[in-house]
Amino acid sequence: MRDIHHFIDGEARSGASGRFGDVFDPNTGEVQAKVALASAEEVDVAVQAAVRAQAEWGQVNPQRRARVMFEFKRLVEARMDELATLLSSEHGKVIADSKGDIQRGLEVIEFACGVPHAMKGEYTEGAGPGIDVYSMRQPLGVAAGITPFNFPAMIPMWMFGVAIACGNAFILKPSEKDPSVPVRLAELMMEAGAPAGVLNVVHGDKTAVDAILRHPAIAAVSFVGSSDIAHYVYREAAAHGKRCQAMGGAKNHGIILPDADLDQAVKDIVGAAYGSAGERCMALPVVVPVGEKTAGALRERLVDEVAGLKVGVSTDAAAQYGPVVNAAHRKRVEDYIQLGVDEGAELVVDGRGFALQGFEKGFFIGPTLFDRVTPQMKSYQDEIFGPVLQIARAETFEEALALPSNHAYGNGVAIFTRNGRAAREFASRVNVGMVGINVPIPVPVAYHTFGGWKRSAFGDANQHGMEGVRFYTKVKTVTARWPEGALEDSAFVIPTMR
Ligand code: NAD
Repeated sequence: MRDIHHFIDGEARSGASGRFGDVFDPNTGEVQAKVALASAEEVDVAVQAAVRAQAEWGQVNPQRRARVMFEFKRLVEARMDELATLLSSEHGKVIADSKGDIQRGLEVIEFACGVPHAMKGEYTEGAGPGIDVYSMRQPLGVAAGITPFNFPAMIPMWMFGVAIACGNAFILKPSEKDPSVPVRLAELMMEAGAPAGVLNVVHGDKTAVDAILRHPAIAAVSFVGSSDIAHYVYREAAAHGKRCQAMGGAKNHGIILPDADLDQAVKDIVGAAYGSAGERCMALPVVVPVGEKTAGALRERLVDEVAGLKVGVSTDAAAQYGPVVNAAHRKRVEDYIQLGVDEGAELVVDGRGFALQGFEKGFFIGPTLFDRVTPQMKSYQDEIFGPVLQIARAETFEEALALPSNHAYGNGVAIFTRNGRAAREFASRVNVGMVGINVPIPVPVAYHTFGGWKRSAFGDANQHGMEGVRFYTKVKTVTARWPEGALEDSAFVIPTMR
């Protein structure tokens, strides 16, 4: 049995807590590795290494730090196949999709290569008589990231790429469900020239997370995961005086106006609903056709498309999606399908009980389609996070706009239409953080910024782009004068520029 170690101060460290988690092969259902689960003491060892490393790393000039990012990008690209295969073997997503996971992370590394420009401060000459004012961005010190299972490459890179390029040291606590790729990324960061201790990977569960949230030497915590945990992390981090951004779950809607190019919209929605077995925070699990005619035509085409989907093992190049991450998650998704039935939604295609020949113990779920889902249903209100698409019909544009706007989650939303004015109005009024116009998965490019609204994100700073730079730096403002001549008297009144 393979053991997955922590990676602290530039080297692998065996777990000392005596506690381990199972890492499955979702294709076969078998346990393929044991991952060490850290104690608070082990987290502290990593933080001490990070504190030591950061003292020097923060002094390295920004261009040299950026060169480590350039080299890291080259190394990851050179190992793309190996990393994608490893990622798929623990997560279950198909290999082409794992490459996308890694590539979207690398795009943030590309942004991080340009961080010296983004960190430049501001300067005002002559802000007062003989007085100059300048501000600079300095690293926070040690930051930490707690990441979910569904993007084990991209989301760690969202965080450590920007944090480290800004001069911080980083503690990554990846998901214990698929922890191998994060360790490989840390090893490659060392190979790229990051000093030992600048990026540490500590595996674990709530014990490790709590140790991070309470550690006095950690200045900032970035979290991505489900909303209840995100809210908890946000509260605890704040209670311990830390900066925190905590991204949560999602329930993204795709609105289909009657004038949409329906053939294209259906292709887009099927890919966005079932890709990665629906285990994406930017998946499109709800589709909202406007008007009965649109709904009828949409449903007919969806049924055809769903019938043609190929579910397979993650190494099957012809498969559109693979298994979900573990048996508990499969049960959760199947329970939600039953709940939908019990609540009175119409189950058009039932993916439960799906078995793949030769892989009967794998965690597969067939594509599932519901119609006549309503906002009162719990199966509509909750995030299912599986290959389940729900049709929620609307009569009018206003009704369609209200559905995502009134939903508790507000991560992403998409509208499909040929009408620019309607799309513009929708984008302006919808109460959701990321909007796609004829784009089903509107994950912003790396130099823009990622973040939802409402229960999809706690805190006020988004991931990557300038928001990321602001999150991982603090501003220092210097007011300077160089007096000469006669002494000035003490001033007992606040100086103003009148
Ligand atoms: P999760 O909340 O179960 O786990 C996320 C992290 O929190 C993991 O590192 C885990 O070890 C830790 N954790 C779990 N339980 C904890 C507890 N009780 N106390 C402290 N820490 C705990 O999420 P997941 O199942 O790994 O990921 C799926 C979720 O992540 C979905 O809800 C999805 O929408 C969300 N997600 C959101 C975004 C986004 O940017 N908004 C991106 C990806 C995933």
